[in-house]
Amino acid sequence: MAKRTINSELFAKAREYLVGGVNSPVRAFNYAGCDPLIIKKGRGSKVYDYDGNKYIDYVLSWGSLILGHGHPDVIKDIKKVIENGLSFGATNKHETELSEMILKAIPSIEKIRFVNSGTEAVMGALRLGRGYTKRDKILKFEHSYHGHADYLLVKAGSGLATLGLPASAGVPRDYIKDTLIVGYGDKKAVENIFKEHGNKIAAVIFEPCGGNYGVIPPDIDFLRYLRELAAKNGSLLIADEVITGFRFDFGSLSRKLGIIPDIICLGKIIGGGLPIGAYGARKEIMNHLAPLGDVYQASTFAGNPVVMQSGLSTLRELGKLKNKYSSLVELAGYLSESIRESARERNIELDVENFGSMFSLKFKEKKQFQGFYRKLLESGVYFAQSEFEANFLSFSHTNADIEKTIRLVKMALDAI
Ligand SMILES: *Cc1c(COP(=O)(O)O)cnc(C)c1O
Repeated sequence: MAKRTINSELFAKAREYLVGGVNSPVRAFNYAGCDPLIIKKGRGSKVYDYDGNKYIDYVLSWGSLILGHGHPDVIKDIKKVIENGLSFGATNKHETELSEMILKAIPSIEKIRFVNSGTEAVMGALRLGRGYTKRDKILKFEHSYHGHADYLLVKAGSGLATLGLPASAGVPRDYIKDTLIVGYGDKKAVENIFKEHGNKIAAVIFEPCGGNYGVIPPDIDFLRYLRELAAKNGSLLIADEVITGFRFDFGSLSRKLGIIPDIICLGKIIGGGLPIGAYGARKEIMNHLAPLGDVYQASTFAGNPVVMQSGLSTLRELGKLKNKYSSLVELAGYLSESIRESARERNIELDVENFGSMFSLKFKEKKQFQGFYRKLLESGVYFAQSEFEANFLSFSHTNADIEKTIRLVKMALDAI
């Protein structure tokens, strides 16, 4: 691999103007302890830097690019829409077409509202849930990530306390006083919370598969319990499917698991690489949103025609691959098992968590991860730059990509 000299220069310049050289913290590669990758372009399963180096990409814009980078038909369609102008702040036909496609794939959504990010989707869903139930409290789980709204930046307090602490400076205690937090999978804690606060809990929000604390596979028994308990107490169940929507099959992961949430949040994949979020539910709930109802939520750019076309063309292509999700799962399973085995052969303690086409790595020590990560990046494999982030496969990853990755993973393990 060529040196990353231009990369270093570009990052030095970025640091002069952007906070830490980035617009989102994890991009700074602080955890990995090396200079971040500054990406010039992506094609299929590969990204390229400004020094001419090529990397097999397992980050894929945090899971958004399930078709890989720059799918030719998607790009072609977007170009056509761009010719007609970029934004009108008015209804266009692309948003109706995208909603129709999503509603067919996820039948529990009868009406949908598009926004510009996963964060906004969750904020909208929770406001709607609170407006609909006329209750204030929400329940979330430790280690789940739902974007950066104040009242969701909460970490668990000590011991049995169910009132959390702000997870960021700048979040007043008052803003999180209605956010309850317990450990994921802890039935007893959930039961106690509902005993104490049941008739005040507007909604329970969960990730069907966790993706922001390494991969946390679904606990189906727990999710069924949540479904039942929420219904019994008149609380809504909100699935944050910003990562999981269309990742495990052509629809929602909750449905695949047999759980029907009241509200579903989407993002990432449904925008095909452009900024998007969405939340949807049955009509009776959604009609509480303005202009029909009294729950306010608005946006200048929501439903932007270019973004909508990007999502539409992506889902159209994805629809053709509907029956091929299993191949994605097989490849990810094979890669995960090979990494596990390679570590075992070298007596390196390494947990590889894998669910569907997602996987994450956890070494015994951070130092080991850093050594491994740097070596791997140098050799042309771009994994998530922290052990707490998930890696993803796309339909553009080939067997050859996987075999090459395994070979390079072995070399990186040898180097630590
Ligand atoms: C990425 C993500 C979000 C936030 O989406 P943004 O588009 O980054 O605002 C929310 N929830 C989950 C589960 C996510 O993975």
